[in-house]
Formats: sequence, C-alpha cells, structure tokens
Amino acid sequence: MTAPHVPLFAQVNKYFDKAAAYFDYPTGLLEQIKGCNSIYHVRFPLKRDDGTIEVIQGWRAQHSVHRLPTKGGIRFAPAVDEDDVMALSALMTYKCALTDVPFGGAKGAVRVDPSKYSVHELERITRRYTYELFTKNLIGPGVDVPAPDYGTGAREMAWVMDTYSSLVPSSIDALGCVTGKPVTQGGVRGRKEATGRGVYFALREACSYPDDMRPLGLQPGLGGKRVIVQGLGNVGYHAARFIQEGGGIIVALAEREGAVYCAKGLDVEKVVAHRQSTGSILGFAGAVDIPDSSEALEADCDVVVPAALANVITMANVERLKAKIIVEGANGPITADASERLLERGTLIIPDIYANAGGVTVSYFEWVKNLSHLRFGRMEKRFEEHSNEQILLGVEQLTGLHFTPQARAKATGAAGEEELVNSGLEETMVAAYGELRGIQVARKVDLRTAAFINAIGKVALAYMERGIFP
Ligand code: NAD
Repeated sequence: MTAPHVPLFAQVNKYFDKAAAYFDYPTGLLEQIKGCNSIYHVRFPLKRDDGTIEVIQGWRAQHSVHRLPTKGGIRFAPAVDEDDVMALSALMTYKCALTDVPFGGAKGAVRVDPSKYSVHELERITRRYTYELFTKNLIGPGVDVPAPDYGTGAREMAWVMDTYSSLVPSSIDALGCVTGKPVTQGGVRGRKEATGRGVYFALREACSYPDDMRPLGLQPGLGGKRVIVQGLGNVGYHAARFIQEGGGIIVALAEREGAVYCAKGLDVEKVVAHRQSTGSILGFAGAVDIPDSSEALEADCDVVVPAALANVITMANVERLKAKIIVEGANGPITADASERLLERGTLIIPDIYANAGGVTVSYFEWVKNLSHLRFGRMEKRFEEHSNEQILLGVEQLTGLHFTPQARAKATGAAGEEELVNSGLEETMVAAYGELRGIQVARKVDLRTAAFINAIGKVALAYMERGIFP
C-alpha cells in the first residue's frame, strides 16, 4: 500500500494551534515557534554505475534555532518533499523540547528509493549531500547534527562523518557532526535500538496507570496486551522485540509485501529470520497471511504501533481500527482528522513527538560522548566495582554470611556504556511521560495536546529568558 499524500506540515500546525490556544503569549512569539526558520533545497548530479547522469534532489530544514546545534535525521525516500521536511523538522523541535534534549529541530531528506541504487551509488549520494550541506554551513557539531531516519542507518552516518572530517581535518570535534554512527566510528552503544526501546518505554508507561486503562476496558500493565507493529525497520523491529520481551503479545507484524497474524503471538526474531531467508514476511508457519499490509492495522488487537510511514491511519480506515491504544512509532502516521475521530472514540494516542523521541535522546548522549572524547563509564566503572566489593566484604565480616559468586557478581557489577545509555533513555521517557500525563490531567486534554503544550512552553521560555520576547 502507498500511503496517501496529505500535507504533513499543515497537520503538525493543527496540533500546534490546538495547544497554543492554552497560552496567552504574544502572537509573534507563537508564530516564531511555529514557523520553519529556513529550508535549503539542493540539486546535484549523480553519475550512476552505468555511466548515465541523474539529478538528485535534497533538502535540509532548520525549524528552530532557539537552541544549537539543530538536530534531525536524514531520510532517503522516493516520495519525500519540502513540506515533509519542514513538518518533520518541526516535530524535532517539539520532541527535543519535551524530552529536555538541548537542541533545535532540523530534518534532511534526499528523494531516492535506496532499493534502486547500488551501495556505491548510495555512498556517492550521501557524500555529495553532506558536501552540499557543508558548503552552506548546514552541518557541524555546533551547527546542525544529522542522524538516521527512514531509509538511512549507521552506514550512511559513517559516510557523513567521514566526508565532514575530510573537509575539516583539524576539527577535534568532527565526530560530533552526526549521530547514529557505528560504535567503531564514534557511535554510542544502544543508539541503534534506542527509538524502538523508547517506543516500548512509552507504551509501558501509558499502560501503567490503572485510571487510564479502565476506560479502555484494559488491565493495567503491558503484560498480555495484544500488539500489532507495522514496519520491521529500525524503529518497528526493535519496538516489537522490546514489547515482546516486556510481556506484550505481538499478534501481527506488517511489512511492504504483506502482514502475518497469529492470535497466540508471533516470535519477532523468528518472523524476521523467516523474512530474511525467504524474502517475504508471508508464509510464516502457524500464522495467517494478510496480503494487503495496510489491512493488518485493522486486525483484532489492543495496541497498534505504526512504525513505518506517515498518514497510514486516515478517515478512510479509521472506523475499522480496533486498537484501544495507538503508539506513533513513525512520524505523523495518523492524519489530523483521523486523530480527532480516534479521540472521540476514546482511543489513547501516544503521540510521535513523545513516543519516538528515544532516538534523539540517545543521539544527544552520542553527541556528548563525541565532544567529551570519553566513553560513558570508563572513569568510574572499576572504581564502583571495587567500592561495591568493599561494602560486600564489610557485610560479610559483620554478619558472618557469604555471598554466592552469582550474588557477588550482581551486587558488585557497575554500569558500562550500554547500561548507562539505556538508563538515561528510560529516565528520559519515564520523566517525560510523567510531565505529559500531569498536563493531560490538569488541563483535561489529550496526550498529544499535552505534549505540544509542554513543548511550546519550553521553547517559549528559551526565547523569553534570552530577552527576545520580553
Ligand atoms: P527504516 O527505513 O529503518 O524502516 C522502515 C520500514 O518500513 C522498512 O522495513 C520498510 O520496508 C517498511 N515499510 C515500508 N513501507 C511499508 C508498508 N507499506 N507497510 C509496512 N512496512 C513498510 O525506517 P525507520 O528508521 O524505522 O523509520 C520509520 C519511521 O520512524 C519514520 O517515520 C521515521 O521518521 C520514524 N523515526 C525514526 C527514528 C530512527 O531513529 N530511525 C527516530 C524517530 C522517528
């Protein structure tokens, strides 16, 4: 299924306007926060492997520079346009604000279908796009820091970093020009899984409030919730994996070629292995095939996690959806009118600007690591382990008891980089949900409006405290 094209920025701004009505800020301040500060549109030639020349189009939008650097992924997709990039950069501003990640919002895109280009061609596209950004001062550790998004991953980020480093060979902080890099290239452990892990934390938090589950007719807790995930890419795969580990039952998984459904639950890793070996998600043993992937969203379940494309839940299919909870793993998967309809029906929507903020949160950690030139945990890990060992010895001497080797290892072990990153991510997602729910209850609004109220308030404060809007 190809998602219908609905202008995304107008939808984001509808949500903005709904939340802005709760403030009595000067109109100019709200206009400044809402609009996209700047957008760069570039065309450059690509020499294809067969010798032909193709003109490639790309964009980079910086929605808000109230904090620097700006931050946002680079998308490689065939249907992306300027409106999408501005909308996605706006979402980045709000996402960073509500998770207290100190960046402005940005987004980049290149209009290509990665599956139609060789690895060498993709490398040339990525390096040339980076060069074009560099010539306009649109990339750098203190200026604008890209990351992976739909159609890109750690490989592309390594090319971005290498290109930037070769253009600024004397910059000691060059590694911080992009995040989502492979760990061997200055990446941070836990970044790859971060967005999906964040989606899991978001759902877990939402399910933890009995008062919020009761009106949905659901028991508190993630355990036993029947979940459908659309998209088995970076966000969807990891989200499905963590939700399953957290006790959710993955009843359906959807990809481009179709979906599979099993009421008793699918093993995510086995479905992924099946897709890898056969080239299709269809035909998984014990599951029912749903040849039209979009129909999977309408199957029987408690939770739907759209984690692939924008505008997949629209007025055309909203009435057929059975989910009581929708977690927006993707950016903008529900059109604004369908979102309103779902709220009327009492569906709990966990909005994208919160639900998929785990990626930028851990990107922030990676950037901090790059600028500090120090792996998280390197200084304190052994020190903590030795201190813990001394405490255990003291307890043993006082009590005469002895810990088993397993209990000893557990009690003395200190956190390494991955544990610290995951802990920082969990803290961010839990704290942000608490803030959103506080606003939701106090203002009697839906969670998305609460998220926008929170974000707008924080961006406004950043402007006002600098005296820009007295
Ligand atoms: P990805 O390219 O890694 O994965 C996307 C997946 O969706 C692919 O496996 C693709 O085959 C699948 N897909 C495409 N069309 C489909 C269809 N019709 N039905 C079902 N599946 C389909 O992209 P990603 O990084 O996982 O991003 C997905 C969404 O999450 C995007 O909206 C992106 O903006 C958002 N997001 C990503 C990150 C990140 O860290 N990667 C962070 C925040 C938000």
